[in-house]
Amino acid sequence: MTSNRVYRTKAVVLKQMPIGETNRIITFYTRTAGKVAAVARGIRRPGSKFGGSLEILNHVQTSISRGRSLDNVNECVVIDSFKNLREDLTAIAEGIYIAELVDTFGEDKSPNTRLFDILLETLSNLDSLDHREFWILWFEFRLLHVSGFLPEFVNCVECRNPLERSDHTFDPVAGGILCPSCVDTYGTDQSWIVSVYSLSLLRFFQRSLSTTLSSREASSYSANLTEIKTFLRTYMRYIAERDLKSTGFLDLVRFKEN
Ligand SMILES: [Zn+2]
Repeated sequence: MTSNRVYRTKAVVLKQMPIGETNRIITFYTRTAGKVAAVARGIRRPGSKFGGSLEILNHVQTSISRGRSLDNVNECVVIDSFKNLREDLTAIAEGIYIAELVDTFGEDKSPNTRLFDILLETLSNLDSLDHREFWILWFEFRLLHVSGFLPEFVNCVECRNPLERSDHTFDPVAGGILCPSCVDTYGTDQSWIVSVYSLSLLRFFQRSLSTTLSSREASSYSANLTEIKTFLRTYMRYIAERDLKSTGFLDLVRFKEN
């Protein structure tokens, strides 16, 4: 009985919230249990056993006890605190943006190890590699994939015919690209045009889903990312509000566009 109440898992700290005088609620994305909120008791007291181990974005090994209403953090050891990333305010903001995306798309107490793995890989890339904007877009694309929301970029989402190499209409309601013959019938007022350039990058991302991209790819695709950034964020906002009922996401994306 006791052993079932306690579990150990690798996790990334997504956010913290003060509760009571000396405690904080920590939201983790764990490898084995998905998103978990647990109380770190006494963390705001001087000399707390937690020290700085529960800083946002830390990759940790933690032990958590299931409680009647809230779980409790027993122990926490840092595996990686991404020190380089923390020396750059923009990189910290980008890391927090990634954490907020996982907080929005990650399901409570439902493991998604692929989501955990891409979160960790992205924090590590932001910590050690150039072209951070590329790595964030690559994360956003894979977030849609591992959450089951990735749209169709190769064939028309309605008639399934292969798409010609040109600009096309993307419709979030239809869930993908519509060919010229289907646009009039199935297009909605939420659709927009995606350029042939951005479509080629989206298809490159799609072909690369089972591979690990390197600095070489990041560097060759590091220019002209504005359209694809707007594409991914507009689509994520649509999904977050329609399917995840996350209203705060609008502000998050607006903040990042400024
Ligand atoms: Zn079609």
